Amino acid sequence: MSRIVMKFGGTSVADLDRIRHVAQRVKAEVDAGHEVAVVVSAMSGVTNQLIGYVDSAGKLADLREYDVVVSSGEQVTSGLLAIVLQSIGVNARSWLGWQAPIRTDGSHGSARIREIEVEDLIRRFGEGQVAVFAGFQGIGPDGRISTLGRGGSDTSAVALAAALKADRCDIYTDVDGVYTTDPRIVTKARKLDKITYEEMLEMASQGAKVLQTRSVEMAMKHSVRVQVRSSFNDAEGTLVVDEDEIVEDALVSGIAYSRDEAKITLIRVPDRPGIAAGIFGPLADASINVDMIVQSYSADGNSTDMTFTVTKTDMDRAVSVLEELRGELKYDALTSDPNVVKVSVIGVGMRSHAGVAKKMFTTLADKGINLQVISTSEIKVSVLLAEEYAELALRSLHTAYGLDAA
Ligand code: ASP
Ligand code: MG
Repeated sequence: MSRIVMKFGGTSVADLDRIRHVAQRVKAEVDAGHEVAVVVSAMSGVTNQLIGYVDSAGKLADLREYDVVVSSGEQVTSGLLAIVLQSIGVNARSWLGWQAPIRTDGSHGSARIREIEVEDLIRRFGEGQVAVFAGFQGIGPDGRISTLGRGGSDTSAVALAAALKADRCDIYTDVDGVYTTDPRIVTKARKLDKITYEEMLEMASQGAKVLQTRSVEMAMKHSVRVQVRSSFNDAEGTLVVDEDEIVEDALVSGIAYSRDEAKITLIRVPDRPGIAAGIFGPLADASINVDMIVQSYSADGNSTDMTFTVTKTDMDRAVSVLEELRGELKYDALTSDPNVVKVSVIGVGMRSHAGVAKKMFTTLADKGINLQVISTSEIKVSVLLAEEYAELALRSLHTAYGLDAA
């Protein structure tokens, strides 16, 4: 007997037929003798619709009320799945975040889970009961509903698996697993059997949308065995595991891309101590996340160019923050460009092998693609390029690193 957490994303519970199908998958695990906790997302499209209502309702000053509205999608699916399970003879009970309870911090709209009380659930497992959780939600220190940020049901599932000391956390979604790159762009992309937590973390934060980044952080911290698999077929998915479980590590495991980047350049800022703090401090104060940064060589010794990226949605705000500071920062000009894409090659094999960056640069150079910004970390090399080259870059890199399916 194992204890498993099964999480179903929005497309897997998109309508009652699919919810019935999900119920059969749950029943199969119960019939196999396992203890099962299920976590569900809202039906696909529902969260967006709810956010649309909130946006139209008026100026949003109070994220507590945002949370009340947007958490409701998951409440519906958890109840519906419990009903369907009961109707096929499975002893099931729905759970909202406050009922377990799933305790979070007070950052409404993007709360973090602090602790989950599981004693009652475990006692009910003993009585053969299946718990069906509304994902994406918890209860804040103020006693009010909190939500975990977009995609947060993944984190609900992993946190629950950690608290329950589950043997597995299966994330059922509309793809078969984690691919070497986006199969919609590169037809030769391959499904990975295994990927390390660290690689998955980079893939998720670099734009691969299968798992919420926080869920991977949590899985890594608590060594939760996560499997990403399809709810539409029985194929084995991708296991996200510790590095020591991967026998044959490829140099590069995956190539991610993000179109959600915009480039800002401050031309000729004075090259003096404190200038980076003067630029990035106010951006941070405005809650604008900066990703890649390059400061160019100062040819005249007095001034330098500072280029960096922010998300596309933050670009206009970042520009106005910096325009207001023009008198203080004394730059000559400011340019911004939303038509860029960040492409990242990722692999733990980079730690022990040189030449990964070189291969990336020569491959892209051969295609005549100009690299606007480069950044590296221990297991990742990222480049920023003009958006029109995204597909060409992905395809040629996929081939160059030997990732193409046979
Ligand atoms: N329904 C929420 C969202 O779309 C949470 C989730 O599905 O993970 O962000
Ligand atoms: Mg999701």
